Amino acid sequence: MSDEIGFIGLGSMGLPMAANLLAAGIKTRVWNRTAGKADPLLAKGANRAASFSETATPGGVVITMLADDGAVEAVTIGDEGIAARLGRDGIHVSMSTIAPATARRLAACHAERGGFYVAAPVFGRPDNAERRQLVVCTSGPSAAKQRIRPLLDAMGRAVFDYGEEPGAANVAKLCGNFLIASALEAMAEAFTMAEKSGLAREQVAEMFGKTLFACPVYQRYGEMIARKQHTPAGFKLPLGLKDVELVLKTAGEVRAPMPLAALVRERLIGGLARGRDEMDWSALALGALDDAGLGER
Ligand code: NAP
Repeated sequence: MSDEIGFIGLGSMGLPMAANLLAAGIKTRVWNRTAGKADPLLAKGANRAASFSETATPGGVVITMLADDGAVEAVTIGDEGIAARLGRDGIHVSMSTIAPATARRLAACHAERGGFYVAAPVFGRPDNAERRQLVVCTSGPSAAKQRIRPLLDAMGRAVFDYGEEPGAANVAKLCGNFLIASALEAMAEAFTMAEKSGLAREQVAEMFGKTLFACPVYQRYGEMIARKQHTPAGFKLPLGLKDVELVLKTAGEVRAPMPLAALVRERLIGGLARGRDEMDWSALALGALDDAGLGER
């Protein structure tokens, strides 16, 4: 792609993702609410937009990697929003974890102006983003997905497509985060029982990570939970709560009871009540220790 694209949201994920676009030779105009976070990218050849509106050019492409639904809507809708600025044939690639219902609203907002919305939420933590190892789920209009594919390839290792319905990729993403959150709680309870029975948590985690549960979620998070190490945060606990609440909201809309998600939600709220806002969302595992009398005094 030869034209300059826009990139909004340079947090833990957005910063390495935008850096990979630049490394792939894609001209990128960046904006972040806290302006200083763009500085490392300017050194790599990015241009700074004075406002989020200025990341968008008529008929161009803007990627958003913002925290939540409200933030994505705030930069998209309205006279200064990117939907109006992109206009006809413009494409918004929306990579945050947001509600399928929000994706549908945003798609309609772009469609009103002759533009396109592609949902492209990702799996992978900031270090995976740095190494171009993200897994991307997509949904939206086929021609738009085809046009932006080189951008996704510059940031990730695989793309799984869920068709044209705007919110479909977000449903797939929420399924994945629910599975991870459930695994965190399952490991937390198992390792707590092991510890209270006199076993070494690390040994139990290592055995399962090498045998029955030899997969990245159990291996990486298993080690963190076994060691009770939840800083520095790759994915902060409040964002984890945001995602589990999106799971419950979506499940309610389609009448799919998810009692496990409700349990995990309580764990995350308990973590916030204990001031764990700056910890990784794996700190929800501390809830099982608290209940068992092994938590902080
Ligand atoms: P983060 O580090 O907290 O960054 C959030 C970004 O959103 C920052 O650029 C922040 O700007 C911006 N922002 C928040 N509220 C805003 C608002 N009202 N207006 C404008 N900008 C706003 O989050 P992250 O970890 O990069 O996550 C970004 C998205 O990816 C989230 O939807 C998350 O669920 C998803 N995700 C994260 C991970 C992960 O492991 N971290 C993995 C997969 C998906 P400031 O810099 O000014 O605060």
